[in-house]
Order: sequence, then C-alpha cells, then structure tokens
Amino acid sequence: MMISVVGGGIFGLTAALELRARGHAVTVHDPGPIPHPLAESTDISKVVRVDYGDDADYTALGEAALAGWRRWNAQWPAPLFHESGVMFLSREPMHDRNSFEHASYTLLTSRGHALERLDAAAISRRFPAYQPGALVDGYWNPQGGWAAAGAVVRQLAADAVAAGVVIETRAVEDLDALHAELTIVCAGAWAAQLLPELASSVRAIGQPVFHLRPEDPELFAAERFPVFGADIARTGYYGFPATADGLVKIANHGTGIPVAHERDRVVDPEQELDLRAFLGTTFPALATAPIVYRRLCVYGDTLDGHFWIARHPTRNNLAVATGGSGHAFKFAPVLGALIADLALGEPHPLAHKFRWRPELATISSGDAARRRD
Ligand SMILES: Cc1cc2nc3c(=O)[nH]c(=O)nc-3n(C[C@H](O)[C@H](O)[C@H](O)COP(=O)(O)OP(=O)(O)OC[C@H]3O[C@@H](n4cnc5c(N)ncnc54)[C@H](O)[C@@H]3O)c2cc1C
Repeated sequence: MMISVVGGGIFGLTAALELRARGHAVTVHDPGPIPHPLAESTDISKVVRVDYGDDADYTALGEAALAGWRRWNAQWPAPLFHESGVMFLSREPMHDRNSFEHASYTLLTSRGHALERLDAAAISRRFPAYQPGALVDGYWNPQGGWAAAGAVVRQLAADAVAAGVVIETRAVEDLDALHAELTIVCAGAWAAQLLPELASSVRAIGQPVFHLRPEDPELFAAERFPVFGADIARTGYYGFPATADGLVKIANHGTGIPVAHERDRVVDPEQELDLRAFLGTTFPALATAPIVYRRLCVYGDTLDGHFWIARHPTRNNLAVATGGSGHAFKFAPVLGALIADLALGEPHPLAHKFRWRPELATISSGDAARRRD
C-alpha cells in the first residue's frame, strides 16, 4: 500500500519504520529539519519509566519498550538510552494508597520488579543534592532512565531512510492532495490545524522546561542524582542528572497553559517563580543557580491524557496518531507497531484506550504521574 505519514516526530517516524517493515511504500512529510526545533520529540532528554501508578496497560507497554530501548542501543552506533534508574519520592509517607508512588510501588513489586524503598535517612545519605527532610519516602527503580530525545529522532530518521522510507521536507496543508491509499496524521500538537474536528479533543498545552547550571555539577552526577519525580503527582516536577557540560534539566508535568499561537510559546513568569519556590525547598544548590535555557514545549494533549490513535470515523483512508499528552516518547520502541496496527484497522488490546473519543468533555489524568490542578 502507498502510505503517507504527516509528521516526522516520534509518532511519525516509528510508524513509518514499522509500516515499511511490513512491506508498504511510505513517505513521511515534515517541514523539517528533523528533529524539528518546535517538535515535542525534540529535546536533550526524555524520561523512560515503567512507573505508572496502578495503570497496568502503560506499565506493560513500558516493560516492552524497555526491552526495545536496550535492543536499539545494541543496534545503534552509540547508545541513546541511558539506564540510570529512576526515583519517585514523596513529601509524605508513601502509605497513602492513592499516591502515585505507592500505587506504582505496589503494582511493580507485584510484577516482580526489584525496587529499593527509600526513607528520609537513605535519601539524605545517598542523594546529597536533596534538602534533608524535603522528601521522606519513595523508591528507586534500577530499570529505566532517560533517552537523548533529539538524537533518537535523528537516528530513527536515518534508519527510516536506510529502510527505504521517503522523507519529503514540506508542510502538508491539504490531506486530500496527498492521494495516498492511507494517510496517517502524526502532527503532534498541530494535528487540529489539519483536522479541526480534533480542536477540542487534542489541545496545544505548554509546559515549562529549564536547564540550570549548578556551581558544582558533580553533586548532580547520575549515581548521586538519577532521573527523579519529586512528589510528581502533586508538584509536577521531575528532572535529570547533569549533562556532560554540567547542565541540570528540570521540567514540570502539570496542568500547563493553553498555546493558541506560535508566539505564545514563552515560559510564563509565574512558571519560573513556581520553579524557584520548588528548588528553594528541595535542591538548595539549584535554588539560585542560573537558568541558561528555558522553553515552553507544547503537548498535543487529550482531555484524559491517553494517546489518540485511531482511524477517522468518516474519512476513508485516514488515521490519526497523536495526543502524546506529555508521556509518549518513552514508548518509542513499541509505538510503531501500535500505530501500524490501529491505522491498518487490525485488532489491538489498547484500541479502546486510544480510540476516537470526541464525547469526552472533562479533563482527567491518564498518566498518574501528572499533576492536575
Ligand atoms: C516539555 C515536554 C516534556 C516531555 N517529557 C517526556 C518524557 O520525559 N518522557 C516521555 O515519554 N514523553 C515526554 N514528553 C512527551 C513526548 O515528547 C511526546 O508525547 C512525543 O514526543 C510526541 O510526538 P509526536 O510525534 O506526536 O509530536 P512531535 O514530536 O511534535 O512531531 C510532530 C511533527 O509533525 C510535524 N508537522 C506539524 N504539522 C505538520 C504539517 N502540516 N505537515 C507536515 N508535518 C507537520 C512537525 O514539524 C513535527 O516534526 C514530553 C513532552 C514535552 C512537550
């Protein structure tokens, strides 16, 4: 079949690779460059975790994705997935059954994951960047870490071209003009610009990302400062070990702010004040560290936080794969097969979760790690 994929982010490229592997002729259209500077998939790092509260679907998908990341690392010229482990800590004792940390710990332990429980003393002893007593409970999971997101997109684009996928550097304005046997819209937060019927279902929501330069980056080296969520379902804050050039990325997975125009892609001063308040109580060595980069990165955000991967209900030969809602990158190794199955109309156990669902009217939190005000 002749297939057009609109969008060269992680949804589009993984779908293109999978469809090509299934013998289809595939063209990816993207204004470029790939990775596109404004794309969600473009960044220095993205968290890779299996920790999803009591959601067994994402947990299982995450487990399969982890195996995929390790496989890709073995195939690629350089490893782009760094398994530093991940840590989820809470400001209160973790026995609150509804807490993200407790639900994740319980589900993962029941699935055989070997997690290390951490109390306030262990946190202070092992992770000196943390304000003693700021976070008092939680666990460390040796599985998971972070992926060098932009580099992964670049590598997948090269893999796609090597596999015979055509990459056409242009923005699509009229889907019908593509004349493909199947078109898959993987345009991230821009999807509603091509399909206005998605406007109230897949919204553009801005989230702040900050890179800070601490005086002593050694304090933030991976063995002392692994990928973390700091009471994430209540604060939204998560972050990464220092990069080779000494930068610490901290970002917020929260309610976010609506973005109507490209010019709105600016971090709000309120968001920066909130960051400083958080750093002041949690990481003293970052409280006044200079911010050397800030970005308002935009989620293609669904109301329930689950992905939107489905065939169009009324337009033949059209499917949509978007709605990453701030948490899809980690699933890259399994995303292509998921999108291919659903776009080709084949059965998939997650078809219902990611179905075409315009009936949704209220906001709920698909990803248990996400702070919702
Ligand atoms: C701040 C932030 C932090 C995140 N952190 C994490 C994390 O730690 N872990 C995680 O798993 N996930 C994370 N995510 C989510 C993850 O990055 C996204 O879910 C995922 O990258 C979405 O990919 P995409 O392909 O749908 O969209 P994008 O990467 O945005 O790609 C869409 C592409 O479509 C193209 N396009 C748009 N319009 C057109 C058109 N008309 N014609 C042709 N091409 C077009 C664009 O140029 C772009 O390249 C984060 C997201 C953000 C914003």
